[in-house]
Amino acid sequence: MTEPNGVPEDCPLCFNTDVVEIDSRSRHPGAQYMYCNKCDLIYITSPGILSPEEERARYLTHENTLDNRGYVDLLTRFLDKAVSPFASGGRALEFGCGPGPVLGELLRRRGFEVDLYDPYFSPGLQRPKRGYDLLTSTEVVEHVVDAAGLWDTFDSLVREEGYLALTTRFHPGPRDFGDWWYHRDPTHVRFYSRDTLKWIAENHPWELVLLDERDTATLKRISRGT
Ligand SMILES: [Zn+2]
Repeated sequence: MTEPNGVPEDCPLCFNTDVVEIDSRSRHPGAQYMYCNKCDLIYITSPGILSPEEERARYLTHENTLDNRGYVDLLTRFLDKAVSPFASGGRALEFGCGPGPVLGELLRRRGFEVDLYDPYFSPGLQRPKRGYDLLTSTEVVEHVVDAAGLWDTFDSLVREEGYLALTTRFHPGPRDFGDWWYHRDPTHVRFYSRDTLKWIAENHPWELVLLDERDTATLKRISRGT
């Protein structure tokens, strides 16, 4: 697939070139939404991607603090479901912690030693180390343009037998995508489905140990591909 300006935009996760444009009622002038029939990812093309400054400004409008009871409850349910059945201490990396690192604090209360990483809000922190027992990534992957690079990073950060627990709303399929609300947030640029997570587990060194119907997955790091 080639864009009108001649720049090819193949699938950013699996590099498949056999992708199709889908009807999304995109509000981004010049942007298209593409569907990859190999890894099931849906992605917006470059004209729809915000600049880093625009994206950071959007994030600052989120009210994700320990004082936000609903947000804390949401993260507590995530930890109860996607983390605590699998991991109960050790070194954790909160990846994409945002301006208010609430999840990091909740992980500390559960006995983890926590590093925080966010490309926009913790630039002063050290680069993440390696060998984490747990990596958490809530509502992050849908923002990251370089999906393949992101997963290579995840692969390298977690030790064998360690866990990656994530949330991102799973897309409803290319036919229903246009009516779906989740892509109306202009910072959402990559849309995963349950099948996308299954593709990742087959092609990256992970085994799915939890995959719900809505938005949550936990993967266990295996030795394949290392
Ligand atoms: Zn793909």
